Amino acid sequence: MKASKYNIFSVTEQGKETVFNTMTCALAEIDDPFKKLYRNIDTINMNEITNEQFELLSAMKEAGFLVEDFIDEKKVLKYQHYMGKMNQSIFGLTIAPTLACNFACPYCYEDAGMGAMSEEVQDALIENVKKMASHGRDIEITWYGGEPLMALDIIERLSRAFMEICDTYKKKYSAFIVTNGYGINDNVISRLKKCRITGAQITLDGGPKTHNERRILKGTGGSTFDKILKNTKHLKQEGFNVNIRINVDRTNFDEVNDLVDIMIDNGLKDLPTGLGHVTAYTEVCSSVAESCLDMEEYAALNNDFQKLLYEKGMLAHIYPYYPGVKANYCCADTLGAFVIDPEGHMYKCWNDVGYTEKAVSTIQNFEAPDEKMFHLGLDYLMWTPFDHAKCEDCKYLPICMGGCPYKGMAAGNEPDCEKWRYNMKDIIELTCENNPEGIHS
Ligand code: SF4
Ligand code: SF4
Repeated sequence: MKASKYNIFSVTEQGKETVFNTMTCALAEIDDPFKKLYRNIDTINMNEITNEQFELLSAMKEAGFLVEDFIDEKKVLKYQHYMGKMNQSIFGLTIAPTLACNFACPYCYEDAGMGAMSEEVQDALIENVKKMASHGRDIEITWYGGEPLMALDIIERLSRAFMEICDTYKKKYSAFIVTNGYGINDNVISRLKKCRITGAQITLDGGPKTHNERRILKGTGGSTFDKILKNTKHLKQEGFNVNIRINVDRTNFDEVNDLVDIMIDNGLKDLPTGLGHVTAYTEVCSSVAESCLDMEEYAALNNDFQKLLYEKGMLAHIYPYYPGVKANYCCADTLGAFVIDPEGHMYKCWNDVGYTEKAVSTIQNFEAPDEKMFHLGLDYLMWTPFDHAKCEDCKYLPICMGGCPYKGMAAGNEPDCEKWRYNMKDIIELTCENNPEGIHS
């Protein structure tokens, strides 16, 4: 037996000694018997240990703090990573039926310039979904834009076809929508239900004042906060799984407190609510770069936010927000996931939508993309932290996996450390604070 490479030891402000393992995400308070066994693990004679020591050793092994000598944890991690990348059980499509939007947000990276999706592109989509379902793949759709509700008729036509295909091939079908929430009404809700869309993500930008300055109606510049709030309640009452994303930067984080109060006053206490890290990803939104938080600042604010949600009795999934083990990062480094624009260009990353030179295929030519596109797709798919010295021996690797591939590649092939690298110690502290009886792996 030997110690795991992925143990992180720390001491809380109250003097509790802890160990967290990033391979399993187990966290335990440690005491002298733990430390003694851990220190002597290389030389311990299993025939000479007491029953208590044996039990403790077994628990340490189960939690991943100790591993058998023959286990190469990095190799296991690498295996899981490539298995995750090459997962073929799901065909996941994020579809933008239009890039048009009824809002004009200053940081938005979608640059409209294409019309709505033509029937020819829709038919190519249907054909490929059929092929994938017939090969045994479940179908997962996220409707995206622009503002996808501006092309609801296209969503309906495609949904009908996808549902029929999945019913025919007995494959699972699931659908979700990312919307600004402005266009929700009774008629839209009933149409979304017929499309088997069960969940929605809606974005708010702080309290009413800032939100109304940023998420403005195109053309009139009119405010949108009250209507979005009302529509969010409506969606929730109709049984949709709604989650709220609050976009934050240096200028609006202090409004989050008031916003949470408004949500509570409006009966939205039980909606999963998270922060969106506004980042100047593309040229379209580079004007907001100065107000963006860096990852270290964002990680600290995220902890404060989780604490706020907890203290106000909001649903915060689990508190504190806790990491999970990642095989790979996102759709960009997964074989069976694509983002599709209205003209049928297929991308690996949401941020590339509309930049056709970043397309890795087209839905019309999905199985035989041109060579240049194919190799661009390979750049994303094969992006791996295992190619980077700074990640190879990093203890956070199992919960970070090298961070966002888009940011990593944009930074000249430099992996972008996830927030856990900056806030894990605080998360351990908060977890201990909220489990005064002690924590067990
Ligand atoms: S590469 Fe980064 S920005 Fe693109 S989809 Fe993945 S996480 Fe999002
Ligand atoms: S990106 Fe940073 S935190 Fe993530 S594995 Fe690499 S070095 Fe570690």
